[in-house]
Amino acid sequence: SDHQLEYPLSPDEMDWDRLYPHFVDEATGAMTKEVTIADIGCGFGGLLIDLSPAFADKLILGMEIRVQVTNYVEDRIIALRTNHAETNAYQNINVLRANSMKFLPNFFHKAQLEKMFFCFPDPHFKQRKHKARIITNTLLSEYAYVLKEGGVVYTITDVLDLHEWMVKHLEEHPLFERLSTEWEDQDECVEIMRNATEEGKKVERKKGAKYVACFTRLPTPEIV
Ligand code: SAM
Repeated sequence: SDHQLEYPLSPDEMDWDRLYPHFVDEATGAMTKEVTIADIGCGFGGLLIDLSPAFADKLILGMEIRVQVTNYVEDRIIALRTNHAETNAYQNINVLRANSMKFLPNFFHKAQLEKMFFCFPDPHFKQRKHKARIITNTLLSEYAYVLKEGGVVYTITDVLDLHEWMVKHLEEHPLFERLSTEWEDQDECVEIMRNATEEGKKVERKKGAKYVACFTRLPTPEIV
């Protein structure tokens, strides 16, 4: 459960250099980049691995609550880094064990993120469990806080009811606006997200449907 999870007091207190050692300025010891892409509930890490070469100049972070799954992804990334040591590939991805439904602003500054992925989130089918879903009004305000204006929330699921739930909540939120299917069709990440994750591959094998919805982070209205 949660109590063993550790959170930084603020994003500046995170030991990002441990996760992305290739992005540390040798002279100053400071990070040369910060995370701008987050995969929430990354599972076994397939999306991170496919996004890595597509966004080689961005730092990408998977957040996963299950210990063993997080350890598995860590090992997977270490192996990839070792096998690609000559090219320094996969240095831009890593994983953190964290409950993404809590303390996200402890990890990321306001407007830090450009993209947030929610791929095949746990559906929590029962009505009384809906509040456990990873997209709710309260959490959307937190996601809006860490996302920059023009940033994108990506969602994909094979559960129609969950898709409708995520669309409804995101559409109702004043800081998000749905992107068109034309936009989805030309976006490289949508293409990657449809096929990269382990859950997505499982759905593919079963020839199940995949429902995609993407939303842009609107400017925060000025209070006059
Ligand atoms: N995104 C991956 C994929 O598409 O293959 C995994 C999908 S899996 C159905 C949902 C994942 O979200 C699980 O690995 C679960 O442990 C993780 N998860 C659930 N709640 C979470 C939370 N609050 N914070 C971080 N991860 C969470």
